[in-house]
Amino acid sequence: MEVAMVSTRASLLILILSLCSPYKFIQSPMDFGPLNLLPTTTTASSDFGRIVFHSPAAVLRPQSSGDISMLLSFLSGSSLSKVTVAARGAGHSIHGQAQALDGIVVEMRALPAEMEFHRGGEEGQVSYADVSGGVMWIELLEQSLKLGLAPRSWTDYLYLTVGGTLSNAGISGQTFKHGPQISNVLQLEVVTGRGEIVKCSPSKDADLFNAVLGGLGQFGIITRARILLQEAPQKVTWVRAFYDDFSIFTRDQELLVSIPDLDYVEGFIVLNEQSLHSSSIAFPASVDFNPDFGTKNSPKIYYCIEFAVHDYQHKNTNVHHVVEVISRQMSHMVSQLYSVEVSYFDFLNRVRMEEMSLRSVGLWEVHHPWLNMFVPKAGVADFRDLLMDNISPDSFEGLILIYPLLRDKWDTNTSVVIPDSGSTDRVMYVVGILRSANPEDGCSHHCLQELLRRHRRIADAAGARLGAKQYLGHHPTPAGWHQHFGRRWEQFAERKARFDPLRILGPGQGIFPRTP
Ligand code: FAD
Repeated sequence: MEVAMVSTRASLLILILSLCSPYKFIQSPMDFGPLNLLPTTTTASSDFGRIVFHSPAAVLRPQSSGDISMLLSFLSGSSLSKVTVAARGAGHSIHGQAQALDGIVVEMRALPAEMEFHRGGEEGQVSYADVSGGVMWIELLEQSLKLGLAPRSWTDYLYLTVGGTLSNAGISGQTFKHGPQISNVLQLEVVTGRGEIVKCSPSKDADLFNAVLGGLGQFGIITRARILLQEAPQKVTWVRAFYDDFSIFTRDQELLVSIPDLDYVEGFIVLNEQSLHSSSIAFPASVDFNPDFGTKNSPKIYYCIEFAVHDYQHKNTNVHHVVEVISRQMSHMVSQLYSVEVSYFDFLNRVRMEEMSLRSVGLWEVHHPWLNMFVPKAGVADFRDLLMDNISPDSFEGLILIYPLLRDKWDTNTSVVIPDSGSTDRVMYVVGILRSANPEDGCSHHCLQELLRRHRRIADAAGARLGAKQYLGHHPTPAGWHQHFGRRWEQFAERKARFDPLRILGPGQGIFPRTP
């Protein structure tokens, strides 16, 4: 082992010298003793967004936390290089956040997919799963369901890694009830930018724990996470209701997130036939909604609320009765409420069906200029108007999600940034402009740049006028990030100086240029 370590260190030194030389590219796999370090791959230099393509010099396929620690210890102890390192989960970022130009990408999916489950007892002990940072949520769901358990808080799409979503927040229709995924973690194992392997939790090394949650990969690499579980329902009753008035739509959404019986609340804007069709792929009810979308010059748009109630079957709740009582309080368009019962697994995995449908017609691997924003409740109607001033409903391809979240479910000690609570509003909204731009349909470079410019205009105006904050954000300069964090900047920068002083980690976010 000693010999292997010495040879690994020598080889890392050669790697760094090669990265610093004008001839940066490693042409063939290099011998790094026990470290599985390979030349760059096309996967490591792209992501779901298909907007940024930054090629790393090398890719590490770690077999253990120790491999990552060895790499980071070496880099943080060497004054020779400016080499940076990015963890890559499933690569579902939009703007190259998991990329490392001329640096090293750590492929977290290569870590052995370990999952250990602990079932809580009668005396208030909780159930949880200890999982590797590179495990995808779909894998955790499949295994935990075998024990009748499941995580409480989700993302809409499950082919994302645990480490990847915990580095952002992880939100979906359950967030109003259980908080984001980062509020449902009990413990983490992290390899810091200094190469130290630390087990942290709210009671041990709490500052590292809080820094890493929502920390955009800036402080350490999450190699293991302890995720809170709950009993899993067998079935879910899934309801959709349509609206033609924005204020009634949001008023009903806010009513729904105040009802404890509900397990999921989301919503989306129905802009055109295509958005109605694509959003219906996974929803297996027969929907008889054929609205008039108006004309190009005078478009009419609609809104859809989605909610769901878990059905535990063995418990004596009459879910149909619950849904009926709730829907009687809603003010949707007449006869425009649809309800269907599906398995819990199919409900959680609903976006996979949309993915498969888009893949089958070549529309999954296209550009995705997405913009996600947290908007204070007081500004949500203005945000809607701003959005409509900047998009053409007839030609928009994709989906616009909009649903309420409750501020008090978010732990402000973590690194995630939400709008300042300037008022007593408990509610804030997330709006996701999930747009596709297909080069085959004529949206190549110039068109894509124009869409990105428009999104930036929306983000800047919403930030300045409404106090909105980007989620999964992209800011072209460190100054933009400074503004994003606002009064939280000092804390974020201080944590960076402590846990990754040479600024090795997370170069793709563009927050901290590497220290010379
Ligand atoms: P990557 O894109 O690989 O990485 C994201 C960031 O996290 C990078 O900065 C990377 O360096 C860092 N990182 C990755 N792994 C680790 C680790 N182990 N330790 C430390 N840092 C790490 N998000 C939601 O919240 N809710 C949704 O409903 C939702 N739906 C989505 C649907 C689709 C189709 C897509 C493409 C994305 C969706 N997202 C959603 C966004 C998604 O949560 C983020 O893009 C997330 O980062 C993706 O995880 P990943 O494993 O692909 O991470």
